[in-house]
Amino acid sequence: MALYDTFVGLEVHIHLLTKTKAFCGCAFEYGAPPNTHVCPVCLGYPGVLPAVNREALKFAYMVASALHCRLSEQTFFERKNYFYPDMAKNYQISQFQEPVGTDGWFSFSSGGELKRIRIHDVHLEEDAGKMIHEGSRSLIDYNRAGTSLLEIVTEPDMHSGEEAEDFLHAFRQMVMYLGVCDGNMEEGSLRCDANISINRKGKGLGTKVEMKNLNSSKNVRKALRYEQKRQARALKSKSEIIQETRLWDADAGKTTSMRTKEAAHDYRYFPEPDIPPFRPDAGFLQEVSRCMCELPLDRKERVGKQYALTEEMALFITDEKDRADFFEEAAAAGADAAESAKWLKGEVAKALGRRGESLSASTLTPERFSSLMKLLSDGTIHANIARRLIELMLEGDEDPQQIIDEQGLLASEQDGGDLKTAVGQVIAQQPAAVDDIRSGNLKAVGFLMGLVMKETGGRADPSAVRAAIDEILGL
Ligand SMILES: [Zn+2]
Repeated sequence: MALYDTFVGLEVHIHLLTKTKAFCGCAFEYGAPPNTHVCPVCLGYPGVLPAVNREALKFAYMVASALHCRLSEQTFFERKNYFYPDMAKNYQISQFQEPVGTDGWFSFSSGGELKRIRIHDVHLEEDAGKMIHEGSRSLIDYNRAGTSLLEIVTEPDMHSGEEAEDFLHAFRQMVMYLGVCDGNMEEGSLRCDANISINRKGKGLGTKVEMKNLNSSKNVRKALRYEQKRQARALKSKSEIIQETRLWDADAGKTTSMRTKEAAHDYRYFPEPDIPPFRPDAGFLQEVSRCMCELPLDRKERVGKQYALTEEMALFITDEKDRADFFEEAAAAGADAAESAKWLKGEVAKALGRRGESLSASTLTPERFSSLMKLLSDGTIHANIARRLIELMLEGDEDPQQIIDEQGLLASEQDGGDLKTAVGQVIAQQPAAVDDIRSGNLKAVGFLMGLVMKETGGRADPSAVRAAIDEILGL
């Protein structure tokens, strides 16, 4: 590939988390029964008046601002004309000449390097409905028609499928931090088209091919890699690369031609006469900056330094805003930062995974987690009991100390006599293991320890168990 330069640009669409659609009062609810969230405006009846959703505008300005764009002082909407059955008006309200934001940039890390990609523009538009094909007939669900969609167009500054995939991951993380999109690619909340051209090294942009139907970041990477190879082969054999739109077929693992430029749409944009231009005033811009937050890359840097975490831990903690908030609240409540990070990444993540729960939706609060970490660091409990407490805290709605008192979790280990009896019994039942130990196979000690832990319901302190075994066997 070294003979060629590759240029990749993305068009990312995100569904904004507005309570109502972009230009009418209908709610949007994913998975609602078909055609239950519709009205004359989003069904495109003649003579109705759309009104722009202020929350959608606020979210749009927030994203544009996070992407360091020039923010429009007077943004307006246009009609993008084309016919498609899932768009009842036969035009889409979008932006062309004066979008919300232009000329920005976005930084993210890829392949161990910090990349900076230029952003062409950020514009607000409405989504179309959804076609459902059932055998020989096609049905249309207009629930999604008119919902607020934000499109982010990058310059062709990326150079591989991997880089595009990393861009998408970082971008998704950022809009989720901002709370403007839920980032759910399966439900179509974040969608992406890509364009790619390759050329002989140093010759600049080649012929642009657009790709659609990329419904996951993995498919973006795979489709781009496939296209990169296909175009390199064409250049090598001196055959022509056609400017066209291609569809990614994930099952077949290849792209196929959808339409060539000659047949492409002429959208005939013209100003939307029913929606006046929007001029953000000082109050609106203050509201936008009030809603901004520390962005993922900055937070990772700060959290890593402030709490002396390794790069890997800082990445894990700040991967989701909820997790980063939880961690910082627990640290503020007195938990040891490095231990907290270790437990969040290990046992807490495992327990949540088993239950299919997210940290923020669980009954584990930063205060309770912090109490647990303190009980652990002052030696009141050991790791096994901490593990058990995490399970119990996720199960019920109680503080760790409350659970310890109620369930008598510390009782059995405080009674050294009981522990010794349990160890003695296990040893008596396992003569073969004892022989192994005596002949020098110390692995069998671990086997005995496991049996004792099982016997005591996991409540015994492993180091006390080990000491009791050593003592009885005279090791
Ligand atoms: Zn409506």
